[in-house]
Amino acid sequence: MDLGLQGKKAIVCAASKGLGRACAISLAREGVELVITARTAADLEATAAEIRQMTGAKVTPVAGDITTEAGREAALAACPAPDILINNAGGPPRGDFREWDRDMWIKAVDGNMLTPIFLIKAVVDGMIDRKFGRIVNITSGSVKSPIPELGMSNGARAGLTGFVAGLSRQVAKHNVIINNLLPGPFMTDRLRAGFVEAAKKSGRPIDEVVQDRARSTPAGRVGDPAEFGDACAFLCSAKISFMVGQNLLLDGGAFNSTMG
Ligand code: NAP
Repeated sequence: MDLGLQGKKAIVCAASKGLGRACAISLAREGVELVITARTAADLEATAAEIRQMTGAKVTPVAGDITTEAGREAALAACPAPDILINNAGGPPRGDFREWDRDMWIKAVDGNMLTPIFLIKAVVDGMIDRKFGRIVNITSGSVKSPIPELGMSNGARAGLTGFVAGLSRQVAKHNVIINNLLPGPFMTDRLRAGFVEAAKKSGRPIDEVVQDRARSTPAGRVGDPAEFGDACAFLCSAKISFMVGQNLLLDGGAFNSTMG
């Protein structure tokens, strides 16, 4: 299926690795011109070169912390009129909420709620004027099914989800479509680090920890970031303009429910 994205321009945040990188690759394969961001310039430039080589797409790396105003301004300066915005950033740390002070909460809310909201604010009116816009927020399965040790993620991302539920319904008539993609376990550096920590704590071999996690999903495996990237490109498609404000879970069936 031709997704109808040839020649479109996208900002993909937090995209040198993991899920952001996979979204960037899938969009580049559809002929989208990219601005990609991450804090570590060397990794980001290596990823940009790799995507150019794989796809022939124009890829501009913009190094910076997307959770800061300066980081967002730099990305927007490189692509002032994006057709597509993929919101992503690192997730808050795990832990016990009794140990989290106000500064830690502000950081989590800043990164996983306010950063996407301010980027949306910066681009949405231009999208409305041009009568095309696709915004995908990478959130988490924890929005639907809270993960106890990820309380800051559960909370901050739920705030974003509530905001998007309202805004997506205000802008859809202009062909500006906002949806959220909710990852379950995907084999990225972040998940690998979690496995290493769990193996260390329990004294079990890492392979065993990974296998347990894989078995915990009905699909019997953890996800491949490439399939997340393809789902993201689909949500950016010109053909999904009737799919508004949805929370699409990619978790191998782990969330157990009859519907919704
Ligand atoms: P990852 O493999 O650790 O990759 C994170 C990427 O984001 C890197 O490119 C990193 O580069 C960049 N980044 C992090 N903080 C940034 C910032 N402040 N500004 C700009 N770039 C930043 O992580 P991932 O697994 O892809 O996770 C992506 C998001 O999905 C996270 O919010 C995570 O919590 C969420 N999630 C992931 C899973 C999963 O199973 N993988 C499941 C649920 C939710 P630099 O470090 O160089 O900036």
